Amino acid sequence: MITRMTKLFVRTLREDPADAELPSHRWLVRAGYIRRVAPGIYSWLPLGLRVLHKVEAIVREEMNAIGAQEVHLPALLPREPYEITHRWTEYGPNLFRLQDRKGADYLLGPTHEEMFTLMVKDLYSSYKDLPLSIYQIQTKYRDEARPRAGLLRGREFVMKDSYSFDIDDAGLQASYDAHRAAYIKIFDRLGLDYVIVKATSGAMGGSASEEFLGIAANGEDTFVRSPGGYAANVEAVVRPLAPARDASGVPAPHVEDTPDSPTIEALVALSNARFPREDRAWEAGDTLKNVLFMLVQPDGTREPLAIGLPGDREVDTKRLEAAIEPAELDAFTEDDFLAFPALVKGYIGPAALGLGEDGAGVRYLTDPAVSEGTRWITGANEPGHHVYDLVMGRDFTSDGVLDVAELREGDPAPDGSGPLTLARGIELGHIFQLGRKYAEALGLKVLDPNGKLVTVTMGSYGVGVSRAVAAIAEETSDEKGLVWPRNVAPFDVHIVATGKDAAPLEFAATLAEAVSEAGFEVLLDDRKASPGVKFADAEVLGVPTAVVVGRGLAEGVVEIRDRATGERTEVPASEAAERVV
Ligand code: ATP
Ligand code: MG
Ligand code: MG
Ligand code: MG
Repeated sequence: MITRMTKLFVRTLREDPADAELPSHRWLVRAGYIRRVAPGIYSWLPLGLRVLHKVEAIVREEMNAIGAQEVHLPALLPREPYEITHRWTEYGPNLFRLQDRKGADYLLGPTHEEMFTLMVKDLYSSYKDLPLSIYQIQTKYRDEARPRAGLLRGREFVMKDSYSFDIDDAGLQASYDAHRAAYIKIFDRLGLDYVIVKATSGAMGGSASEEFLGIAANGEDTFVRSPGGYAANVEAVVRPLAPARDASGVPAPHVEDTPDSPTIEALVALSNARFPREDRAWEAGDTLKNVLFMLVQPDGTREPLAIGLPGDREVDTKRLEAAIEPAELDAFTEDDFLAFPALVKGYIGPAALGLGEDGAGVRYLTDPAVSEGTRWITGANEPGHHVYDLVMGRDFTSDGVLDVAELREGDPAPDGSGPLTLARGIELGHIFQLGRKYAEALGLKVLDPNGKLVTVTMGSYGVGVSRAVAAIAEETSDEKGLVWPRNVAPFDVHIVATGKDAAPLEFAATLAEAVSEAGFEVLLDDRKASPGVKFADAEVLGVPTAVVVGRGLAEGVVEIRDRATGERTEVPASEAAERVV
C-alpha cells in the first residue's frame, strides 16, 4: 500500500498549539494526527487514525487470544440501569446526561458494567453458559473536570472494556488472571514502559484491582514501589495513622485543637467535646450515614465534594445542591451537623480529606499551604455507614488511613519489603474483580449444577486505547517530533524524493512499489517542496524508517535514516528495497 504525500490529508504546523503543554499533545497536533474540536474532544486525521487502528488491532488480538468475544454496545444509554446501581448520581458531574424529545433521561456511557450485566442476564440462565468474557472497543464519555494534554484525558475517548462472568470466585480469579496476562502482552507489544500496581477500585466498586501505569514524568498518577516488588498507586496505600508532614519533614499543623499525632481516642474525645450527641457519646467504631463536604473557595464558589452513602440512596448530589442555597451556606456552620469520630484525611484537589472506618470519624483538615481563605464545612446527620467519597469515587477501607502527603521516598513499604521510591505514571489500563455487586443489583443469576439459582460474579477490565496513542507519543517523541515504534507506526517506510530532476522521483516511486509489494505500508513524499521541508516533516511525522532518494542517486546510492536512533546509512540504490524491509 502506497500513500502519496501530495494526496494525504495532512498539514504539519510549524508552531506549537497554544494549549499544548506536553510533548505528546504538541506533536500529535503539529504532525497533523489530531485536531481539537472542543476541550477534551478531538478529531482523528488519517495519520492519527492509522495509529489508533493499530493499537486497537493489538488490543483486539490479545483479547481474542484469551477467548474474549467482541461485541458493540451503544454509547447512548437509558437512565434506568444506572439508576438501579446508583451510578446515575454517584458518577456526579462526570456523567454526560441528556434528554430525548419526550423528556426521558439518557446518558453517554462512561463505562458499561450495567449494560453488559443486563445483556448477559437477557440471554443466559445456566452455569453451563459460563465462563464468559465479552468486550468492546468503543467511545466513552466523561465530563472530566480537567481535560488534559490532548488525548491523555479526553472527555470523549476510546476504551476497550471487557467484562467477565463466572459462577464462583475461582472462576473470577481465572478470568482476572487471563486478562492480566493479556494486558501484559498488549502493553509489551505497544512498546510501553509500564508497571503493574495495586489500585483502588474507584467508581467501579468491588475488591481486588490493579492498574497498569505507563512510567512518565508527566503522568497524573503517583505510585510507589520497593526493591522487594511492592508496587501501588499512592491512592491505594493504606497505612496506620501518622502525622502529616510538610516537604521538609516538619509535621503539618492540624485543625486547631487536634493533637499533631491524633489517636482514635483523641479524636473521639475531641468529637464528644465539640459535637456532643444527644443519645449517647461517640465511641471508637461509630460510622456515619450521610455526609456532606462543601468546599468554599476563597472567591466564594462552592463545590459539594462528597455526599451520599452506600446505605442511603435517597441523597443525591443534585438534591443536596438544591437543598442548600448559596445564601444559606454562609449561615452554615459545622455545629449544624452532628459530627462523628472519624479521622478524615487524604486528598481531594487542593484540600485534604479521608477517613478510617474503625473508630472512624471526620474532621476537616486543611493544608495551610493551599487552603488559605478556604473554608471546609463538614457534617453528617446520623451514624451508620461509611463515608463514600464521590469525587474520587474511592471507597476508604477500615484498616488504616490514606495519606498521600505522608508517603516519602525511602519510607518502608507497607509489606516490609524495603524502602519505597516514588514515581509518576499514566494509567493505561485497569483490571477489577467486581464480584457480585452489579449482578446482585441487576439480578443476574444462573442455575448451578444443583438447580439452585446463584448470583454471577464479574470482573471488568479497561484499556485506554486513545490514551495509549498519546502515552506512546509521550514516551517516544523527541525534540524533532514523533518517533513511532514499528508496531503502531502509521507507515513502515517513508520514502522522500528530493531535487527537481525526474530521476529521483521516478526511482522513489519504483522503490515504493517494491517495498509495498513486500507487504509494507509506504508513505511517499512526492511533493515539490524543498528537501529541508521534507526532512523536517519526516521527522515530525515519525515513521520509523525513511529512505532519502536525492543527489546520491546519480552515483547509485540512497540514504536510509532510522528515526529513533538518527542513524544514517548510504546503501546502493539497487539494494534499497531489501535493506528497508
Ligand atoms: P483516570 O484515573 O486517569 O481518571 P480512571 O481510573 O477514571 O482513569 P477507568 O474507569 O479505570 O479510568 O477506565 C479504564 C481506562 O480508561 C483507564 O485505565 C484509562 O486508560 C482510560 N481512561 C479513563 N479516563 C480517560 C480519559 N478521560 N481519557 C482517556 N482515557 C481515559
Ligand atoms: Mg477518571
Ligand atoms: Mg484512575
Ligand atoms: Mg481506573
